[in-house]
Amino acid sequence: MTRLRMPVLQSDLNIMKVSIIVIGDELLLGQVVDTNSGDIARIISSANWQVSHVVTIGDNGEAIRKAVKTALEVSDLVITTGGLGPTKDDITKQVLMEFFGGELRFDDTVLENVKEVCRKRNIEPNELTRQQAMVPSSCEVIQNRVGTAPIMWFEKDGKVLVSLPGVPFEMNEMMRTEVFPRLLRRFGDDVNIEHRFLLIFNVIESEIAARLSCFEESLPPFIHLAYLPMQGYVTLRLDGWHADREFLNGVMDSKRKDIEREFGTNVIWNENRPLAEIALMLLRRNGLTVSTAESCSGGNVAHALTLIPGCSDCFAGGVISYSNEIKKNVLGVSEDSLELYGAVSLPVAEQMVEGVTKRVCHTECGISTTGIAGPGGATATKPVGTVCIAVKTPRRTLVDCYRFPGSRQRIIDRTTNVALIKLIRELKKLEREKKG
Ligand code: ATP
Ligand code: MG
Repeated sequence: MTRLRMPVLQSDLNIMKVSIIVIGDELLLGQVVDTNSGDIARIISSANWQVSHVVTIGDNGEAIRKAVKTALEVSDLVITTGGLGPTKDDITKQVLMEFFGGELRFDDTVLENVKEVCRKRNIEPNELTRQQAMVPSSCEVIQNRVGTAPIMWFEKDGKVLVSLPGVPFEMNEMMRTEVFPRLLRRFGDDVNIEHRFLLIFNVIESEIAARLSCFEESLPPFIHLAYLPMQGYVTLRLDGWHADREFLNGVMDSKRKDIEREFGTNVIWNENRPLAEIALMLLRRNGLTVSTAESCSGGNVAHALTLIPGCSDCFAGGVISYSNEIKKNVLGVSEDSLELYGAVSLPVAEQMVEGVTKRVCHTECGISTTGIAGPGGATATKPVGTVCIAVKTPRRTLVDCYRFPGSRQRIIDRTTNVALIKLIRELKKLEREKKG
């Protein structure tokens, strides 16, 4: 089924028609070559729509009026770029209100967005940039995350007009990530949307982005890569849309494999599931049970496991061993270790996991946490965020010390995630070793 590759007949009345209008005197003068219309056509090419005409016009009210009138007559969707910058009169907005009605109104959310974009660019918002917050009351605003001119979505009699900024980078970014996905939801009942996920551990977002820069450039226009930083790991999401589902699935799977190859054992998992669910699935698959001994995370690891339905077959229980007394009396941590190394130490974390798995819960696997979640409690050698985590499986007991940044809540969340990630990684290794 390769509908997309077949030539579209002009006479096919069922097909959705799209007009693109690019606005700018510089384009007519030949000072700048129009790249926007081609980029838009490529971005929307995965939908089974027909770009029926592309027009280039100057920054001039009469020309915009004529072009918009014709475009609305012959097509279902009109996309315009340019004519929105703070340096020009608001000709485009005025002309669009002639067609869609309404009046200019001040929009707080646009001003907030303009300020935010200026802050990121280290520039002061001035009167001109403030003017961009004046928008027609007849449009829905889509915030421009990468520039100051708001994107305007007009709708009337079943037809949609979207007005985008002229700056090619802004247009491309917003078209790919916001406008086209919305258009698909609005018009694209024959378009398939697919997602792929990868959970990456131990590589920071900026390094992931650097290592994937060639990969991102090679992505076809119907696939977009999103970065979602979590506490202790990064989720990568590939969004894809195409009229041909089989073709799309093939490309998406192969792109996911490319990322998996790049990050190797730093890939925790290739689906979007809670870490606790992944850990429980691996435990179940290997006939293992787990228990927890938590100090600084105060039961949060046990809570994460408990949130997953059906956890009872693998999760036995846990001890919240906040005080040294509980560490000693319930888990059997030695007085000597507590005195010699302190409660936040590798030997104590190790004894905690031994105690909970052997003395209390009788499980093959275990997790223990002990750390300083702050804001108080720091010492010269152990600042806030120092956390020791032990993970026990039939392979071995792994004990590591970390220094996590941020607030008490963030440290607790990060401790929980890293503990679960360590367990997942150990269980994956165990599976690989079993298979030989
Ligand atoms: P205004 O014209 O109202 O100031 P605008 O959104 O059109 O707002 P411009 O400042 O005109 O923004 O354009 C920004 C940059 O983008 C300029 O360098 C311009 O040459 C370029 N540009 C605008 N339209 C296109 C296009 N269709 N293709 C390529 N480059 C374009
Ligand atoms: Mg312009």
